[in-house]
Amino acid sequence: MSRQITSLLAIAAVCVTLAPAPAFAQAPKKEPVDCEQVKCIALTFDDGPGQYAGTLLDTLKKYDAKATFFLEGQYVKSRPAYVKRMAAEGHELGNHSYSHPDFTKSEAGTIKSEIQKTQDAVKKAAGVEPKLLRPPYGLADLQVSDIAAEYGMPMILWTAGSQDWSSKNVEAIKKKTLEVAQRDGIILMHDWVKQTVDAMPALIKTLQNKGYHLVTVSDVVKRQNLEPGDIFPVPEGWEK
Ligand SMILES: [Zn+2]
Repeated sequence: MSRQITSLLAIAAVCVTLAPAPAFAQAPKKEPVDCEQVKCIALTFDDGPGQYAGTLLDTLKKYDAKATFFLEGQYVKSRPAYVKRMAAEGHELGNHSYSHPDFTKSEAGTIKSEIQKTQDAVKKAAGVEPKLLRPPYGLADLQVSDIAAEYGMPMILWTAGSQDWSSKNVEAIKKKTLEVAQRDGIILMHDWVKQTVDAMPALIKTLQNKGYHLVTVSDVVKRQNLEPGDIFPVPEGWEK
């Protein structure tokens, strides 16, 4: 080995040794799930982190399931530890505004500050920035789409809802979710609804027994090749 290469290797070794430990825990390395090969579904939890997020995270961990959290900035600020844990445990973090206004009735400046403040809060809590936007109430128009594009984010709605916020009933939430579950489905749920979190162990077990892999939204939409500002699933009457 030439002297030059040897000294380069020595420098490399020093660099590796001196590299600082990552400030935030990394998600454990795992084979990525290929939703083209296996049956996938994405459970999404909005408006959080809610007060039951810790219990939900325990359940997800127990069943090795991944989820996507569309976070509200104001609660990221008040419950940052949950957000840090979500990222560390391999869940996806999305932006769901700071204080949940209807973006289609908001000024551009308000929309931008709602998005930016939430990006900043998540970055501060978990060291990562959301790459997906779910506009409050799932409502968007061309102005919202243009702003999402500026932030480099596609907008993600849902294929079906669990109607957990209206039923607030464990059995009804399980029944509805299983009824609307489909391959590559994106299911709307809420981690501030206690009954949703209570329903989750049995629900996850049943979904897994039906062959579903519980994955993140990004896993499910990978084949859609979404561009910033795109909306998925495309709502009826949406024109761009
Ligand atoms: Zn919401």
